Amino acid sequence: MSIAVEKGYYGEFGGSFVPEALKEVLENIDAQFQKYKEDEEFKNELSYYLNEYVGRPSPLTYAEQLTKKCGGAKIYLKREDLNHTGSHKINNVLGQILLAKRMGAKRIIAETGAGQHGVATATVCAMFGMECVIYMGEEDTKRQALNVFRMELLGAKVIAVKKGQGRLKDAVDEALKDLVKNADNTFYLLGSAVGPHPYPSMVKHFQSIISKESKQQVMEKEQKLPTAVIACVGGGSNAIGSFSEYINEPGVRLIGVEPKEAASITYGKPAVLQGFKCLALMDENGEAMPTYSIAAGLDYPGVGPEHSYLHTTGRAEYVAVSKEEVLEAFQVLSKTEGIIPALESSHAVAYALQLAPTLSKEAVLIVNISGRGDKDVEQVFHMLNN
Ligand SMILES: *Cc1c(COP(=O)(O)O)cnc(C)c1O
Repeated sequence: MSIAVEKGYYGEFGGSFVPEALKEVLENIDAQFQKYKEDEEFKNELSYYLNEYVGRPSPLTYAEQLTKKCGGAKIYLKREDLNHTGSHKINNVLGQILLAKRMGAKRIIAETGAGQHGVATATVCAMFGMECVIYMGEEDTKRQALNVFRMELLGAKVIAVKKGQGRLKDAVDEALKDLVKNADNTFYLLGSAVGPHPYPSMVKHFQSIISKESKQQVMEKEQKLPTAVIACVGGGSNAIGSFSEYINEPGVRLIGVEPKEAASITYGKPAVLQGFKCLALMDENGEAMPTYSIAAGLDYPGVGPEHSYLHTTGRAEYVAVSKEEVLEAFQVLSKTEGIIPALESSHAVAYALQLAPTLSKEAVLIVNISGRGDKDVEQVFHMLNN
């Protein structure tokens, strides 16, 4: 099955619902992205930093103990937790900052919710000597004071957004305003496979390294394609990167896992949210609903347009898991494999624990471990001791 991407549309989803001034800026980013993504020098530079700075390729680890414990499918873990800065986010920020440099930008801006994308952005800005401004909801700066300090340590300026509810959505609005005003020297580095065109397809492009590697690795280890690929879904960037090379392989099941408390695909309806159309959790007034997930990175009322489309066409399956199942999975992977997964990634592990025992020993699962759990240990400690 091939996907019709016409001007940033995936079926009815995607597009670019933004003011005229912003439209021009985004069209320029799209044109430059289309040009450089095929450019040999650009591709070589990106691979250089992915190898030398991020530490790619990330291993595809056979989880032998977990496989035995589940008693069914063979489970492999794609180890994005081993990347520099501890998650898949670095793949995207590196690609976008190299594009920004080519476009002559001197200043990088980004939004952040819990701070993970802000830290990844501040990291590459430090390395490339670029000015970095991070917009963060005021509420979030209070809850994530340590991440604010991390960004400052890396040389970024963090602006606390007081407007609205002081959350991620308000930070995105401020960043877009800044972009329109300063487009001549500024690049907006967006953190997930969401937002107006070209961001969803650009973020997918930079995250597809995950499945490019995993496909080659699984063929070497098993001489066949996996039965299923499982990834957690917030905005959808690690999932679309884990799926992309298999979308045209109809024999491979693609499974996205959402938190029950913020299940945009499972419970959402089509809506326009922050400049693009997707499945989203909206209230009766057409406002995005407040969500709450124990994994801050999955706490977003919408989801990328391509996931909305893959759900509607039935090419990918989306399931929701509970907080309790996630906490259990966090501990199970730690104890069986000595790998503490991020709470976000624990969603994917939680579903793998349900699915693996129902499959035969010939089946092969790839579970994307989108990040490491060190950042979550204190939170889990409090949850388990309450
Ligand atoms: C940010 C984050 C996510 C969620 O973002 P996606 O765009 O859905 O991938 C998942 N896992 C980790 C470790 C994260 O930091």
